[in-house]
Amino acid sequence: EFAEISVTDINKVANSSFPLCMRHLFEKLKEDHHLKHGGRMQLGLFLKGVGLKLEDALAFWKAEFSHKVGAERFDKEYAYGIRHNYGKEGKRTDYTPYSCQKIILSTPGAGDHHGCPYRHFSEENLRAALSKMGVGGRSMEDVMEKVRNRHYQLACTLTFEVVHGTSCDAGINHPNQYFTDSQNILK
Ligand code: SF4
Repeated sequence: EFAEISVTDINKVANSSFPLCMRHLFEKLKEDHHLKHGGRMQLGLFLKGVGLKLEDALAFWKAEFSHKVGAERFDKEYAYGIRHNYGKEGKRTDYTPYSCQKIILSTPGAGDHHGCPYRHFSEENLRAALSKMGVGGRSMEDVMEKVRNRHYQLACTLTFEVVHGTSCDAGINHPNQYFTDSQNILK
């Protein structure tokens, strides 16, 4: 059973406890008031795992998308997908949030913001994003070395350790695990 979280709390914890892949999607959503399908799936299922209930998820996505496409078009074109993620449409499968492995193996195209930044960002963009999270100096180079060796989850684990100032012996293998471990440290 997942914990429950409100839309207001999502905004608070995004900055402190989201892994880089979800921070990026969250920032882009706030900036563009839109995400393409892959991004809606990756972030939407993550937020479901974090504890956002269906009604709150609909309110959250509607508030953003309305700025771009209007409330009516949101209801017509996008609400279905969100209810679908929660198993309320179609085959009624209760979809689970994506693992790191699945995200790392995804293939974001032009205009997509899903995927794993350690795998899919350019070095320049990754350095800038890590810097915004407070990673710098020797730690930055350690993370970049993991990336060069294609150890993306180890790079994410190192980032977690720098950001939280504590070790993460289990390693990061799921964005929702990153979130839960972070919340356990911060609470
Ligand atoms: Fe997200 Fe996993 Fe990549 Fe970290 S390693 S950014 S949690 S997909």
